[in-house]
Amino acid sequence: MNIALLGPQGCGKGTQAEKLEQEFGLVRVETGRILRQIGDSNQPNAEIIKKMMLEGKLVSDDILAEVIKNKLELQPGKGYVFDGTPRDLKQYEMLNRLLMSMGHKLDKIVFLNISEEESVVRLSNRRTCESCNKIYNLLTDKPPVPDTCECGGKLIQRDDDVPDAIRKRLEAYRDATLPVIAQARKEGILVEIDGSRTIEEVHKEIIEKLKL
Ligand code: AMP
Repeated sequence: MNIALLGPQGCGKGTQAEKLEQEFGLVRVETGRILRQIGDSNQPNAEIIKKMMLEGKLVSDDILAEVIKNKLELQPGKGYVFDGTPRDLKQYEMLNRLLMSMGHKLDKIVFLNISEEESVVRLSNRRTCESCNKIYNLLTDKPPVPDTCECGGKLIQRDDDVPDAIRKRLEAYRDATLPVIAQARKEGILVEIDGSRTIEEVHKEIIEKLKL
């Protein structure tokens, strides 16, 4: 089964994608993390990717299509969880085309719904481990020792988890991603979930609704 997780920034897409990956062996395609890695490398597109991310803007469709195609080819799986894509209707069409060309299809879009106020609070308090990428929340899921992950790594705040970039990303979500959710609802493949509850409650409902 191939699914995409959508919702405002901080809705828990990453956390839920990771759980689905661990429990059901789906391959996680996290475009934000892949792009961040390329941005920090010396690959040809690194500079432009880094600039777009810092400004809270979306990278171009060409770059995105190439990144996703590479990932699918490198890691063939029994199913994929897309985390961070499709962000707009063009990406939705691109992803459908790409999957179809590889003999797959997008089965469901899971919409993790939280309010924009909740999104801002969650992102401002998000800290990520530099070493293992584990995510903490300073209000609800504090690290065992301040600024330090359980693995011993240093916790950092993402460059784009600052008020200006958060505001831009939420605007982009409202303008571009909400239409994808509306389209998926029209096509009958939308699964809507209240993302404001605990990680385990949300996870349980995803499993039930997807009949995994
Ligand atoms: P995320 O980690 O999903 O919040 O993504 C962080 C940043 O990576 C975004 O603000 C964009 O600059 C870039 N990005 C991630 N996914 C996409 C995508 N599907 N299309 C374009 N840009 C993306």
